[in-house]
Amino acid sequence: MRHHPGDDILLAYASGVSDEATGLVIATHLAFCAQCRDAVSLMEKIGGGLLDALPPAPLAETAFAATMARLDSAPPFARPARTASRDGTPEPLRSYLGGDLSSVRWRRMGPRLAYLPLLRRGGTSAKLLRGSPGTEVGAHTHRGLELTLVLKGGFTDVTGNYGPGDLQVADGSLRHSPIADPGEDCINLAVTTASLKFENFIQKIAGPIFGF
Ligand SMILES: [Zn+2]
Repeated sequence: MRHHPGDDILLAYASGVSDEATGLVIATHLAFCAQCRDAVSLMEKIGGGLLDALPPAPLAETAFAATMARLDSAPPFARPARTASRDGTPEPLRSYLGGDLSSVRWRRMGPRLAYLPLLRRGGTSAKLLRGSPGTEVGAHTHRGLELTLVLKGGFTDVTGNYGPGDLQVADGSLRHSPIADPGEDCINLAVTTASLKFENFIQKIAGPIFGF
């Protein structure tokens, strides 16, 4: 694995301030990457240490009783019934998919591309993309951030080659045209914080229809 999220993105994740889609793609990268798991756990320890160093704040006298009352009124926690993944699809991705990666019901987008929308919150969305070997997504730039995590196969663009677990962070300064590597289908988890800017006329029209 050669491509990792920057420390700014990992720190936001460790502090719990990432948006949901970014949290999903980072958590899935961590399932592949021991190096970033270690970095996040260190950041969490430092954050916890900073909290410990803060002077204690006085609580209202009624706080304890109010907390106990809320605990009493909360419904008991029910652990969802869950079978183990048969193809190693990590959580929390598996919950968003509703099952394993190998049993995804893809939506076609032309003969070589397929996709599956996972979530949309305002302008930010997460989706799965699947391209057969040699598929070109089409040259585009970015209005916001695009985070692309390879789950299977690989792709190549001007910045290099990306394989399973690699995460590309693209912003407005990057113009690229990723091509799926030869061999098996390339499956990516893609998060965008704003729509992409395609250069090809057909893709300009088709992009918004498919939510790009
Ligand atoms: Zn990493």
